Amino acid sequence: MNYQTYPYFGEEHHMYRETVRSFAKNELAPHAEEWEEARIFPREVFEKMGEMGFIGARYPEEHGGSGGDIWHTAVFAEEMPHCGMAGLTMSLLVQMEMCTPVIHEIGSDEQKREFLEPAIRGEKIGALGISEPDAGSDVAGIRTRAERDGDEYVINGQKTWITNGTRADFIVLAARTDTDPEMRYGGISLFTFPTDVDGFEVTRKLRKLGNHSSDTAELHFDDCRIPARYRLGAEDAGFYHIMENFQGERLVGALTGIGGAQIALDETIEYVKDRNAFERPLTGFQVIRHRIVDMQTELEAARNLNYRATDLFDRGLDAQKEISMAKLKAGETAMDVVDECLQLYGGMGYVEEGPIARTWRDTRLLSIGGGTSEIMKEIISKLMPLR
Ligand SMILES: Cc1cc2nc3c(=O)[nH]c(=O)nc-3n(C[C@H](O)[C@H](O)[C@H](O)COP(=O)(O)OP(=O)(O)OC[C@H]3O[C@@H](n4cnc5c(N)ncnc54)[C@H](O)[C@@H]3O)c2cc1C
Repeated sequence: MNYQTYPYFGEEHHMYRETVRSFAKNELAPHAEEWEEARIFPREVFEKMGEMGFIGARYPEEHGGSGGDIWHTAVFAEEMPHCGMAGLTMSLLVQMEMCTPVIHEIGSDEQKREFLEPAIRGEKIGALGISEPDAGSDVAGIRTRAERDGDEYVINGQKTWITNGTRADFIVLAARTDTDPEMRYGGISLFTFPTDVDGFEVTRKLRKLGNHSSDTAELHFDDCRIPARYRLGAEDAGFYHIMENFQGERLVGALTGIGGAQIALDETIEYVKDRNAFERPLTGFQVIRHRIVDMQTELEAARNLNYRATDLFDRGLDAQKEISMAKLKAGETAMDVVDECLQLYGGMGYVEEGPIARTWRDTRLLSIGGGTSEIMKEIISKLMPLR
């Protein structure tokens, strides 16, 4: 795949792409079997990626970042799937683009020093705690409670599906600060929650269909006391910040999905060129060539939608519709492509040690995590003149 012709990337992005690709292929991919089997990867990977400047690529230098832009994130999301572990990629992207942006945008200087900067260095692992057993798509339905008591908040409740949850040092946590039913959207606040407080417990590590190298946890909060200064932004303004934060989260999800599917297709093309049946390579059959053309065309369309959404986001324009479209299209296209690739591998596609089985399982998450395809359609429909 040649990314050189897209106008969004400059020379520094191309060089960054080479660095991320080579790190993913040479330093991470050789461990894929082991870390997938272990259902977690070593903590040192965060530190190494902090040292390499990946985690802070687009954060300002004053916080330990490299001062890059959203196109560095795009490059990272597209190239990391070369490591062969969507789980590890997701864990890193949670750290880079899902739990830290809101600290950077609305956190106090103290919160930046205590949580953002060590996260950029890879010394602290972060998580984003929004989903609950009874509230996933319906964020405003969360019930975890944060009650003010003097200079502290007392937190009680439960979270689930939390990526990095078994070993996070801090969680960007959503909790209800107003229980008035009239305040469904307006009664939620965000906090930087350090996980070493009394009453916090990791109650379960979830066994998942895919993304095995990342840990996903169920968490319990029982009278956890945190200083009031750990609130992020104004009280009761959390829902708005969560929706803002979702934009970056969904964008990187979309970019990773199309980047990963492109890698799967490139590898499949090499396979079908070499694989013979009926005394000719598989690419000797027009039907196979046409299927590959269809896949590449769909990927190209989805990639351009991703880039359009990234460009709007980069320029600070309202990109909600385009980002939702990009995530919707990426989730569905990536799954279609990877499924078709699996078919082209034949029996090799169905064996665990083959080149596509893990990618196939991992890709299924894209139309669920960070907002389902149905929720993307709901958002898009509200932004169209349908009523
Ligand atoms: C591997 C993994 C990692 C995750 N990581 C995190 C994390 O780090 N932090 C975090 O907070 N969350 C995380 N999540 C949670 C994820 O964001 C939610 O699973 C997702 O938002 C869907 O919520 P739900 O599972 O409660 O499904 P539900 O909301 O129960 O939805 C079930 C089905 O109903 C559909 N549906 C719901 N509402 C509507 C509607 N209005 N119209 C039409 N259809 C509808 C949905 O699309 C879906 O198909 C993770 C999930 C997974 C699987």
